[in-house]
Amino acid sequence: EGQITADDVDQLTEHFPLCMRHLHNKLQENKHLKHYGRMQYNLFLKGIGLSVEEALRFWRTAFSKLNDDKFQKSYAYNIRHNYGMEGKRTDYAPLNCMKIITNNQPGEGDHHGCPFRHFSEDNLSRTLYNAGVTDKAQIRQILEYAKGHHYNIACTRFFELTRGSGSKEQGMMAAINHPNEFFEKSYQLSQ
Ligand code: SF4
Repeated sequence: EGQITADDVDQLTEHFPLCMRHLHNKLQENKHLKHYGRMQYNLFLKGIGLSVEEALRFWRTAFSKLNDDKFQKSYAYNIRHNYGMEGKRTDYAPLNCMKIITNNQPGEGDHHGCPFRHFSEDNLSRTLYNAGVTDKAQIRQILEYAKGHHYNIACTRFFELTRGSGSKEQGMMAAINHPNEFFEKSYQLSQ
């Protein structure tokens, strides 16, 4: 823990669940994320081992359109706050899937949330396809889980199909209920 640097994040996204990959991509694309997106992603990055200094460096680089003064005034505080360095000094835990799925529903221009819960069917199937689930029946199966509100099972199925976890059969793996758990399992499989 703690030895992951801001420069490693891009390369590690292959181990991210779809919610965090989406935030990462949108951040790169727009050079910006709105409040809840920053919170969801920053706490996740903290969970994978970025120190507060590296997190600040990561966000400073990503928000490339901002000058330093604006960044320090409007964003640095919240990033440090997530790490318990400001305000009440609560050391916030990375959000679990339940919180991401249930709290703060994303609106226009927001990119936080859970793709299995918050994407349209079209968008979700395109996203799955681009992430390597190219078999139509498998996409349909995941869409069915999502439609039935079984978001974590959908996500776990996505993991099984794309990580080469060796459990292609249904129900082989315990359901993932935390994005950082997804990351750690995927990372471990690659070692
Ligand atoms: Fe992220 Fe959890 Fe949704 Fe998977 S189920 S995409 S880890 S919020």
